[in-house]
Amino acid sequence: MERPNAWKQYKKTDNHKLEALADAYKDFLDHGKTERECAAYAIAALEKAGYIPLDQAISQNKKLKAGDKVYLNQMNKAIVAFFIGKKPLEDGMNIVGAHIDSPRIDLKQNPFYEDNGLALADTHYYGGIKKYQWTARPLALHGVVVKKDGSSVNICIGEKESDPVVGVSDLLIHLSQEQSAKKLSEAITGEDLDIIVAGKPLAGEEKEPVKAFLLKILKDEYQIEEEDMISAEIEAVPAGKARDFGLDRSMIMGYGHDDRSCAFAELQALLEIKTTPESTCCGMLVDKEEIGSVGATGMQANYLENAVAEILNLMGDYSELKVRRTLRNSRMLSCDVSAGFDPLYASAFEKKNAAFLGRGVCYNKFTGSRGKGGSNDANAEFIGKIRKIMDDNKVCWQTAELGRVDLGGGGTIAYICALYGMEVIDSGVAVLNMHAPMEVISKADLYEATKAYKAFMLNA
Ligand code: MN
Ligand code: MN
Repeated sequence: MERPNAWKQYKKTDNHKLEALADAYKDFLDHGKTERECAAYAIAALEKAGYIPLDQAISQNKKLKAGDKVYLNQMNKAIVAFFIGKKPLEDGMNIVGAHIDSPRIDLKQNPFYEDNGLALADTHYYGGIKKYQWTARPLALHGVVVKKDGSSVNICIGEKESDPVVGVSDLLIHLSQEQSAKKLSEAITGEDLDIIVAGKPLAGEEKEPVKAFLLKILKDEYQIEEEDMISAEIEAVPAGKARDFGLDRSMIMGYGHDDRSCAFAELQALLEIKTTPESTCCGMLVDKEEIGSVGATGMQANYLENAVAEILNLMGDYSELKVRRTLRNSRMLSCDVSAGFDPLYASAFEKKNAAFLGRGVCYNKFTGSRGKGGSNDANAEFIGKIRKIMDDNKVCWQTAELGRVDLGGGGTIAYICALYGMEVIDSGVAVLNMHAPMEVISKADLYEATKAYKAFMLNA
């Protein structure tokens, strides 16, 4: 039952393709550090491949048919792309869905204050993080500031070599006797994650001169007033680029492999499909998974359903029943990362049912925690079909559970899509240090995930 190591099977052409894919992926990570940046990257790639905005098709009342490519842009944070196939839509689609939000530190709406010669930004972290991992490291600020007149300013500070970075301080070891005695989860609190952003007073300013200097910079360089922060989304993320990891360059270390490794593999797989598929292929890049898939851009919003209704309408074939049949008859890979087995923390795993780096794309029958609570549980019939598709297409794959029983757990978007009655299984890339500022994946697993998602879209 032990799954083979993917690297052992590779020939020269595989290695070339794998490295080219890894390079493209690193570029995606470097340009996609927020959900908005990932969505913009996806839109550019999709439009280059001939996908048109669904809203444009709607406003022009464009007749859609097999071979047409459209995408929905949900508030610049979630994208759903469709390559319309030859079979009727109501026979169901082959859907792959990943999320493009990652754990990070968000600036509050009233962030800036001055304290003893330093200006700081107050924050509220996003998603599950081990807070101590985010201190004493370079952070970059990414996001958007929207003004009252509706215009917006994109922010990206800390990625160019010449850019300044910001960061959260940590107490020096010499004075950490009390902090070190605390539980790991309590040593750094959420309110301790304030970011130092400036340290020089504005000449001639008496009251809060350092903050005044900061506000002057924001005004001079970005035309932003302090009050504009109320309608801003600024995310502090690890500064710097994704890099090869390991002396053999077999892995990649970077920010946001969860879940941008799957998002990239999915997008790549969809873009590799050039001729009209039999079943409609659907690629989803969704937001807010890390905080429960909530809000208008999270999977719980009905934009997939709405987009299907619009497409059926533009195909001249709309009915409420057909929307329901399309969704119920669909097959889906919920693409999200899996916990990679870590030899330093072996006791957190049950080795026969763990995901190993380098053994290919990973399938999780269920996720959840404590007796599978909150889980989607993929049907055995569907898994049988997946096994055949993977083996027929020479994909290297493995199966896993997220860690030892009763140790913890996690969820994905699978259970939400399953609400339509479609077949769904979790599938993804194994990650080390999941949710840390810098995560690690194997290039082989990214390569196999891309192969798997393409094979699924064409054959499910
Ligand atoms: Mn995830
Ligand atoms: Mn996650």
